[in-house]
Amino acid sequence: MAVSSTPARSPRRARGEGQWALGHREPLNANERTKKDDDPLNVRARIENIYAHRGFASIDPADLRGRFRWWGLYTQRKAGIDGGRTAILEPHELDDEHFMLRVRVDGGQLSLEQLRVIAQISTEFARDSADITDRQNIQLHWIRVEDVPEIWRRLEAVGLQTTEACGDCPRVVLGSPVAGVSADEVVDPTPAIDTIVERFVGNKEFSNLPRKFKSSISWLADMPYEVNDISFLGVEHTDYGPGFDLWVGGGLSTNPMLAQRLGVWVPLEEVPDVWEGVVSIFRDYGYRRLRHRARLKFLVADWGVEKFREVLEKEYLGRSLVDGPAPALPDKPIDHIGVHRQRDGRYYVGAAPVVGRVSGSQLSALADVVEAHGSDRVSLTPYQKLLVLDVPEERTESLVTGLRGIGLEARPSNWRRATMACTGIEYCKLAIVETKARGQELVARLEERLGDIDADITININGCPNACARTQTADIGLKGQLVVGPDGRQVEGFQVHLGGGLGMAQGQTAGFGRKLRGLKTTAEELPEYVERLARRYLDGRTGPD
Ligand code: SF4
Repeated sequence: MAVSSTPARSPRRARGEGQWALGHREPLNANERTKKDDDPLNVRARIENIYAHRGFASIDPADLRGRFRWWGLYTQRKAGIDGGRTAILEPHELDDEHFMLRVRVDGGQLSLEQLRVIAQISTEFARDSADITDRQNIQLHWIRVEDVPEIWRRLEAVGLQTTEACGDCPRVVLGSPVAGVSADEVVDPTPAIDTIVERFVGNKEFSNLPRKFKSSISWLADMPYEVNDISFLGVEHTDYGPGFDLWVGGGLSTNPMLAQRLGVWVPLEEVPDVWEGVVSIFRDYGYRRLRHRARLKFLVADWGVEKFREVLEKEYLGRSLVDGPAPALPDKPIDHIGVHRQRDGRYYVGAAPVVGRVSGSQLSALADVVEAHGSDRVSLTPYQKLLVLDVPEERTESLVTGLRGIGLEARPSNWRRATMACTGIEYCKLAIVETKARGQELVARLEERLGDIDADITININGCPNACARTQTADIGLKGQLVVGPDGRQVEGFQVHLGGGLGMAQGQTAGFGRKLRGLKTTAEELPEYVERLARRYLDGRTGPD
C-alpha cells in the first residue's frame, strides 16, 4: 500500500509533528533515529549471532534499550531501587542484566502443547515466573540473553512468537477468549486475526510506526474495545448481514481518550485490508516528533472521524465503505468466569488467578488438569484470567475442583474476580510503586474483612501514570505515585480515580474515572482505604448493582 503523493487536507498541526506523509522523513528524536538507523527487526540476527554468545555486556545500548523490544525483550528493573529514584537515575542504572520476555498470544488461544512449552520455558529459563497480562500475553522474567535463541526455537516450534510483542509496531491482536465456541457469537473473527498476524507481524512495512498500535477483533464486546487504537466489534447490518463495526483512536496513559466509531460496516473477509489501511494512516500521518503525542488517538482527535474515514477510503482503500449501525452492547463487562455452556453443547470454565500472577509450575499443572478433563486447550482473557474450553458437561464440577487445587478459582469472590494489577516495581523500570504483591494482599484482606459481595466493584492497580492495567476504566483505579506519608516524608502511594467504566458497563456512555486531587492513599494504607470505600458504596447504594 503506497503513500499517496497528494496529502490529505492539512491537519491543524501540519508542520513540526514529524509526519512522513507531509515530508518529515528526518528523525526528530532519539527513538526515531534508532529506528531509522536500523530496522529493529534486524536485531534478532545480532542476538542470535553475537549477543547470545558474548553475553549482556556486549549489547549495543541502542539495541538493548530500543530495538530489543521488537522481539518482546525489555531489561527488567534492578532489584532494590525504590520508586523515588525511578525518575532521577539514568536508564542504565535501572537495568538488571535479565530480561522480561513477552510472548504474544494473538486471539488469546493456547493449545495444551503451547501451554506446556511456555510452562517448561518458565521453569527452565525464567525462575518459574509467569504473568497473564491484561492484553492476553504471557510475560516471563529473569531471562538471560544467552537463552533467548533456544527459547525462540521452542516457542516457534509450536507456533508461538515474541515478534513485535513490544515496540513501535503492531502489538498482539486481542480476540474473544470464547471465539468459535460462544452461543452468542454470530461470526468467529479468528480467520481475520490469523491473516493479520501472518501478513503484517514481522513485516518491515509496519515495523516503524510512530509508537505502539493496539488492536482487538471480536464479535462479542468481551474486551476493552474503547481503549485500543483499532477495534472491530460484531454487528448485524439489516441489508448486508453480520459484519464488524470499526472503532479507532482509543488509548489510556496520561492523555486518555476513548475510541470512536467510524460508522462503517466491514465484512469479515475485508477486516485485514481495512486494518492495513488504518495502520498505514498511522504510519504515514502519525505524529513522530513528541513521543507523548505519537499515538493514533491524537491524530483522530485532530482530524475527527469524518476526515479519518475519508482519508481511509480515498487514499488507502480506493473505495467507499458501507455505512453501518452501532453494535448492541451489554450493560456490564463480560469476563467469562464460572461454568458456561458452549454452542456445541460442551462447556467452558473461566478461572481466576490473583492479579494475573501464575508460575511455570502452575501452568504445567494446569495442562495436566485440563487434559484429565477431556479438553485440549485454554484461552487467556484481557482481564488477567483464563478459560478451559471444550469440557464435557459431566466433567465440569471435577474440573472446578481440580483448578481450585492448583490455585485457580472458578467461583472467586468479587475481589479476586475484578482486581487487576500491572507489572509494577518488581520488574518494571518505569514503576514508582509495587503492584502485584500489593494486589494479592488487597484481595486477601477484602475477602477476609468483607467476604464476597453481591456487587461488581472493579479495582485496577497501576505502578505509574502509564496505566498499563487501565487505571481510568475501573470503579476504583489506582495510579502509583509518591505521596506524603504520616511523618511528612514521601512514600509509595496511589492517586485514586473513582467511577470509571467502559461503555458496556455504562450503557454506551463510557467514561473515565474521576481523578480527584484529594483522593490519595499511601500504599501501606491501601487495604483500609479500599475497604472504607467499598463499605461506603455498599451502605449507600440504592438499587441492585
Ligand atoms: Fe510499568 Fe507503569 Fe506500565 Fe505498571 S503502568 S507496567 S509500572 S509502565
